[in-house]
Amino acid sequence: MDREISEFIEFTSLIGKSLYHVQGGGGNCSLKLGNKMYVKASGTLLKDIHSLDQLCCIDFNKVNILLEKFNRNNNEFDNRIKKMSENGLKPSIETGFHSILGKFVLHTHSVYANTLNCSFQGKELISKIFPQAILVDYALPGLEVSQKILKMVRELKFPNSGIIFLENHGLICWSEKVKDLKNLYNNVHDEIKKNLKFFKEINIKNETQLPNPTIKECLFPDQVVFAGHEINSTTKVENIFAYNEIIKNINLNNYDPKFLSLFDCNQIINLDSEKFRQKLSK
Ligand SMILES: [Zn+2]
Repeated sequence: MDREISEFIEFTSLIGKSLYHVQGGGGNCSLKLGNKMYVKASGTLLKDIHSLDQLCCIDFNKVNILLEKFNRNNNEFDNRIKKMSENGLKPSIETGFHSILGKFVLHTHSVYANTLNCSFQGKELISKIFPQAILVDYALPGLEVSQKILKMVRELKFPNSGIIFLENHGLICWSEKVKDLKNLYNNVHDEIKKNLKFFKEINIKNETQLPNPTIKECLFPDQVVFAGHEINSTTKVENIFAYNEIIKNINLNNYDPKFLSLFDCNQIINLDSEKFRQKLSK
């Protein structure tokens, strides 16, 4: 395997090991070689990826053409993308936005970025400390968020590298070189930590109380997916852990949490792709 590719996979799996960046099957990575894109497969964990053949191989030009003109619903888009897989692995539901960004892309559900993304005051601070970043208002994961991102990066003439803050969702960084991607991702976190207060990171094992928030208190899509889950799967527990950490940090900074609306929650519950992920995590 090319040295840069292995460096990328090593970095993304390292990030995937921290619950402060990735919970359960959340977060994803991709890289482009020629006209092929290797993107995290749905149902795999970022921390478990060690080689290129664990990623779903897809022609990103075909995905881009579809994304450009697709005007039917999210579930149909997901089915079309699934059929484009060239190695039988099911592409992540976020394949759409990976496809339009640069060579190396990392998307996480960082507790640090989400302390900003999930609060009313966060947007202003993001614009202040990251004037170059793209801010995307909340959109349903999959087709909707990808088309929103497409519109915004097109206006910027598809930059080679960048940072995207997704409201009530997460962070995306991309670059042409792995070294630059690592610096970008780490610098974003250094800056957020310099400008906001955060509780010290804790081990999930020390967290004895994990109150299950109700659907009315959901901050991000993955929490909605697993909130109604009766079984305490690892993914569910990890998402509740992230929720608690985000809420604690929002309160610490005297910010106000911005919860998803009931309408947004119901839309997430009705995604076929999310039903698939729920099944996998049982
Ligand atoms: Zn995500």
